[in-house]
Amino acid sequence: MSAPLTIIGSGMAGIGLLRALRALDAERPVTLITADSGDDYSKPLLSTGFAKRLPPERLAARSALRVAEELGAVVRTHTRVDAVDTASRTLAIGEETLPWSELVLATGAAPVTPFPVPETLAGRVFTINDLDDYRAFHAALASLGRPGRIAIVGAGLVGCEFANDLLAGGHEVSLVAPEAAPLPRLLPPPLGRALGGAFEAAGMALALGGGVRAIETAGADVAVALDDDSHLEADLVLVATGLRPRTALAQAAGLSVSAAGIHTDRLLATSAPGVHALGDVACVDGVSAMYVQPLQAGAKALARTLTGTPTPVGYGPWPVVVKTPLLPVVALPPTHPPARWRVEGESGDLTALAESEDGRLIGFALTGACVRRKVELARAAPPLLG
Ligand SMILES: Cc1cc2nc3c(=O)[nH]c(=O)nc-3n(C[C@H](O)[C@H](O)[C@H](O)COP(=O)(O)OP(=O)(O)OC[C@H]3O[C@@H](n4cnc5c(N)ncnc54)[C@H](O)[C@@H]3O)c2cc1C
Repeated sequence: MSAPLTIIGSGMAGIGLLRALRALDAERPVTLITADSGDDYSKPLLSTGFAKRLPPERLAARSALRVAEELGAVVRTHTRVDAVDTASRTLAIGEETLPWSELVLATGAAPVTPFPVPETLAGRVFTINDLDDYRAFHAALASLGRPGRIAIVGAGLVGCEFANDLLAGGHEVSLVAPEAAPLPRLLPPPLGRALGGAFEAAGMALALGGGVRAIETAGADVAVALDDDSHLEADLVLVATGLRPRTALAQAAGLSVSAAGIHTDRLLATSAPGVHALGDVACVDGVSAMYVQPLQAGAKALARTLTGTPTPVGYGPWPVVVKTPLLPVVALPPTHPPARWRVEGESGDLTALAESEDGRLIGFALTGACVRRKVELARAAPPLLG
């Protein structure tokens, strides 16, 4: 029997590709290998589950077993691939060697924690980047038997969404970050301050403008030690200080990688013949877009390429919708620093237009009622990968 097409990773990229592939080719042997449970779930829902008090099982659309049955693939769960050999077209799982005909690396991105966390605090300090993480945090929260005091470190998309969601779920939330305002990479300061204001008005404590030195034990509590030597005490800490593409396998196999991800062309081909990369781990023609729409476009294009129709991927001007119901936010951050931000509106209803030197629209950010301008402005903005 010929070696299977092998996908490493069962996130939205890996399973999305399998689904797109099956729509074009029902027969080709495919193996999907994943380090996690392999459940098919929508990652963006993780930061909406606490307000709705959703148990982890309600977030999974189907189990790994059903993915295997419905999409006709061999699915190996809780299995970490240790190495890839591109010359012999094999991969290693412990002592086991498996052949592949073509390989797709959909290994995603891993949370980065830029300060030490003592091992003794493992059950109190969390990151949530997959359904298994959600399960662990959900269980820790439930074991308190009362609303928790949660310190969230990091005010990017993930930190802000969890902050809003946990607050809406009845918990006491503090948001800690070195930047002066939330969402520093998506919003210019006036809009970031509007979001911070909406958070505070709803009862969230903001500790912005100072970094975190360490996380420590403080009696029965966990203490977040800040740069200015003050401490913030909590039952649980959620660290949301960024994600880094998981490039280790690819790098060890000699593929071209950088901090932005595994380098691919628009066919999602890496520097090694027969090896593709997709999703958060891929840096496509110099663009690292760690969102759902780009990976869905990539999955569709790659499915066609792998079934004999080479199809380059393109990314449209796709804005990011931030799930902060306390103040809705939509942003299409410019790919390079704008000559100026033009900010209009009042209180929480703001429009910010990022303009180039010659006055062209190169990005935008919207808050409150102005999010309804999303479609109109996206039509006028340049594609992320044209
Ligand atoms: C809380 C949260 C909310 C988000 N909300 C939005 C949103 O509203 N809109 C949006 O567009 N984007 C959102 N995103 C981003 C979006 O969810 C991601 O871009 C997307 O889910 C990435 O999917 P992926 O399959 O590339 O990676 P991942 O989901 O990280 O999957 C990687 C897979 O690879 C496996 N793996 C890794 N290494 C190995 C190995 N060595 N061996 C075997 N398996 C391995 C892992 O187990 C996992 O199955 C959000 C992200 C988070 C964390």
